[in-house]
Amino acid sequence: MPSSVIDRTVGFRLGSTAETKTAFTEPLGKGFYSYARRENPTVASCELALAAIEKAEKCLLTTSGMAAINVAFSIFNDPNDHRPWIFPDNAYSGTIDYAENILKKQRGTNVILANSKIKNSTTASLIEAIMKTAPALVFIEPVSNPLLDVIDVPEVINVAHQNGALVVVDNTFATPYLFRPLESGADIVVHSATKYLGGHNNILAGVIAVNDLDLYDRLICHRNVIGSVLSPDDAGRLENQLKTFSLRAAKQNETAMKIAKYLDTHPGVVEVRYPGLPSHAEHDLAHKLFGERGFGAIVTFDLAGSQKDSSQFVDSLSPYIPHIGSLGDVETTFLQVEACFLEGYSQSTIRLSIGIELADEIIKRLDQVL
Ligand code: PLP
Repeated sequence: MPSSVIDRTVGFRLGSTAETKTAFTEPLGKGFYSYARRENPTVASCELALAAIEKAEKCLLTTSGMAAINVAFSIFNDPNDHRPWIFPDNAYSGTIDYAENILKKQRGTNVILANSKIKNSTTASLIEAIMKTAPALVFIEPVSNPLLDVIDVPEVINVAHQNGALVVVDNTFATPYLFRPLESGADIVVHSATKYLGGHNNILAGVIAVNDLDLYDRLICHRNVIGSVLSPDDAGRLENQLKTFSLRAAKQNETAMKIAKYLDTHPGVVEVRYPGLPSHAEHDLAHKLFGERGFGAIVTFDLAGSQKDSSQFVDSLSPYIPHIGSLGDVETTFLQVEACFLEGYSQSTIRLSIGIELADEIIKRLDQVL
């Protein structure tokens, strides 16, 4: 397969008066290239590849995962609709920040954070909140970050639709390798392509995937007016890196299972959270959603010992396994969760993002330090 061609043109040659009018007045997304913020061929090519992977009618690339969430949320900004928007309280911290500070404080949206501790099930807490409040929009993540709670996505989508709500699913953690929310009826799927889709810790990008073409028209218009289209350079690089996506995902999922099992028996670890372990509260649900493909490439665990021991673990491991505030790379990395997510986490909680190295190599490194 040839490398993707990167077209860095900003203003495309316009031709005759009639052609110029067409280029600027035709609806966006039809391949009439006039100005690169509206649409451009390199971005369009990568969007086609993403649509094939996510099994979506249409995809849109944005400058980051948060930009994808911003564009998706902004098209539903109707000041006359006072119905609430529901989020699980264990959603990605950036999304919660957006919900509380942009939606609630700036736009006056009635934001409800469903309390995932009630009944110890994020699914149950979401369903209860939806049935009580008949929201306009429900936002979910199939697998939560960093504690890996699993949501019954088809069930939540059903209940949301029965109650008149649209559903936006952030599929960053599960990835289309494990699960495709559009097939379960999700209205909009978003991704931080910065993570597994890019997979090399070298691109900041977001994806919006839809089947509904009216939604697509609104989304692409909004992306244009707020100017958050991905650059051709990053789109070209992402398209190349997508060629190895399923290989990377298969290897990462397989190795993560081995690492989770290893950690589960280690005396230096008190608890391992991994949906692939039978001890995980939603193990059966994860199996139902993801089939035989795996359970994801994040393994979160709690270290035994004191806070000082946890700091020592971080210092000793980071020369071997990079300590970074991202995930999904081909290289195994880790994060001491409390240092990044700050509130409500213990210093002993470690989030491992499994790469494509041999499992034995990763275990050797962990063993040395544990
Ligand atoms: N969604 C999830 C689940 C994430 O983990 C992140 C970032 O960590 C984002 C969205 C935001 O993505 P980005 O950093 O590409 O804006």
